[in-house]
Amino acid sequence: MKTAIIMMGPPGAGKGTQARLLFETLGFAHISTGDMLRTAIKNETEDGNRAKSFIEAGLLVPDELVDSIVKERVRQPDCDRGLILDGYPRKLSQAETLQEILEQDDILAITIGLNIPDEVLIDRLGSRWMCPNCNRTFSKELSSGILKGLCDKCSVHLIHRVDDTEEVIAARLKIYHEETEPLVRYYHAQGIYIQIDGDQLPAKVFYAIRNVVEERRNLASVGK
Ligand code: ADP
Repeated sequence: MKTAIIMMGPPGAGKGTQARLLFETLGFAHISTGDMLRTAIKNETEDGNRAKSFIEAGLLVPDELVDSIVKERVRQPDCDRGLILDGYPRKLSQAETLQEILEQDDILAITIGLNIPDEVLIDRLGSRWMCPNCNRTFSKELSSGILKGLCDKCSVHLIHRVDDTEEVIAARLKIYHEETEPLVRYYHAQGIYIQIDGDQLPAKVFYAIRNVVEERRNLASVGK
């Protein structure tokens, strides 16, 4: 059954890292609204120019902009195998839009919530680096690339994200708690929310996610 894995959790929880591992393992399309918006900003497109000031301030980009980006993205052929949503939805109105998209195509939704204390996030975000080419993030301890200051895949110089400053991190966490965290209840009520401890090694988190995804997909196929 066509499946959408919705990655939820605060900024720095590891959604992007886990989404990439899922993409490599399952071949589902990795839809990261943050990456798409950053690319649009880099390419100075109309969407990018509109999104820039919101992202730099750590605020949510207006719904109609992200909704239209996502609607267009899910029509691409690589989405036929399944979807991994990373950074969308971030508020109730977006969750409702996504629900319509998923229902239209009879797509099974599984929501993975990565749980992690704010102190750990602040530490992670403040010390992370990103490849501006492939958008992967690196943290001091785990990456060999950072020692050379280069992405180990693209050989491009790593950068700090403009929104990974102390002030903007605080704004992003506040918005997460106010706007995004209530979605836990929304998905919980639908019986499709699974919480996973994000404060473990990435491989351990991934193992837990894979098990959950497999179990849910098996259950859904039996129920058909
Ligand atoms: P993180 O999860 O670390 O905050 P993302 O790369 O997912 O990073 O998002 C970076 C920024 O892009 C957000 O702070 C916000 O400004 C914007 N953004 C991404 N996804 C959305 C969304 N679904 N709705 C509104 N704004 C978004």
